[in-house]
Amino acid sequence: MRINRGFSAWNRPYLFQAMEATLSSFSPEERADIISLGIGDPDLPTPEPIREAIIREHRSRYHGYPTAQGRLDVRTALAEHYYRRFNVNIDPSMLFIGPGAKSDLFDLNAVFSNPGDTVIILDPAYPVYRDAAEYRGNRIHYLSGSVENNYQPPLPPDGELDHLALVYLCYPNNPTGVTASRTYVAEAVELAQRHGAMVIMDIAYADFIPGNGRSDAFSIFDIPGGDAVGIEVGSFSKPFSMTGDRLSWVAIKNPKAAAFWHRYRSNRDSGVSNYDQAGGLAALVDPAIQAIQHKNFAVYGRRARILRDGLQTLGYPMIGLDNTPYAWFSIPIQDDLLAAHRFLTEARVIVTAGSGFGPAGRGFLRATLFQPEERLQEAILRMQSIRLMES
Ligand code: PLP
Repeated sequence: MRINRGFSAWNRPYLFQAMEATLSSFSPEERADIISLGIGDPDLPTPEPIREAIIREHRSRYHGYPTAQGRLDVRTALAEHYYRRFNVNIDPSMLFIGPGAKSDLFDLNAVFSNPGDTVIILDPAYPVYRDAAEYRGNRIHYLSGSVENNYQPPLPPDGELDHLALVYLCYPNNPTGVTASRTYVAEAVELAQRHGAMVIMDIAYADFIPGNGRSDAFSIFDIPGGDAVGIEVGSFSKPFSMTGDRLSWVAIKNPKAAAFWHRYRSNRDSGVSNYDQAGGLAALVDPAIQAIQHKNFAVYGRRARILRDGLQTLGYPMIGLDNTPYAWFSIPIQDDLLAAHRFLTEARVIVTAGSGFGPAGRGFLRATLFQPEERLQEAILRMQSIRLMES
């Protein structure tokens, strides 16, 4: 059997699978007692008008194959959203409805890079960029983020980059919650332009705003040069509690790049079901959605306060939670995998080890706010019993 060599790098257990393995050693009672601040899956349900729109559409007629690019009404609504939200003009023909940002982010690598090409990956960040690059056989150049550089690490000098194909950026960032400055993204755009590369900007959290505060998220198309080299990936998952529906978009203004992506999507799969897209349309245009979202974000905002205050009381310096569902906190030991293991086995609280998001995540943990307030308070109490110290 001949196996893709890229898989060998996947031998490290995928972030959440490692946790699953530990969990399977627990009794059912122990498991029921666990408080998970692990995976980023919204616990507040998909707004009713979205669910109704999906059901209505499913019932309305026989649905054959959808189109590869996605429904025009959804793309038109998304284009209007871009204008309202980001002050960006985008033609619906430059928007591609996808089966989840995870798939899109993985697949984009196959179209816009070749084995041996260099890809720049923000570190720490959502692990799929790295998985795709390893699978493809790219050379990875990590941008090493830290509290000191505000998780906007200096870009490498041109001389260090051989056959640069892609720059992966993720702002607002999973796991740190940091939103980039426009200057920083502009520098990445200029770098890509000098090398004939593309910048993949993941804005999955642009519209996830616990507490309904001000979001500093922006589109790469609002950055000079962004139209030529930008590929923007967005998701319905987090802002609309639609993780189960698998709905995302890719926006590409460069006509040649858009044509390549269109060709890929037409060959690679058969599009996203029309009824799931009807849910996406409702998310964008139904007048009841904004009020529901506002209410949900108020709930998330109260939880963010509990998590923030709690972690500070425990003495863990933290950032995040303004534009993402994540608290990113540093711990007094370097071995974050051990720390996560101890929180799970000794306190029955799941947090995610930072190094799962890249080498710069070492010594950090990520906690989500997708638990009711009393469970979050209980999690903080339990975490208090764990003393993390370098041995
Ligand atoms: N991008 C980032 C930064 C994420 O954190 C996630 C999911 O956690 C995704 C993309 C995936 O989104 P989707 O549910 O659309 O696949």
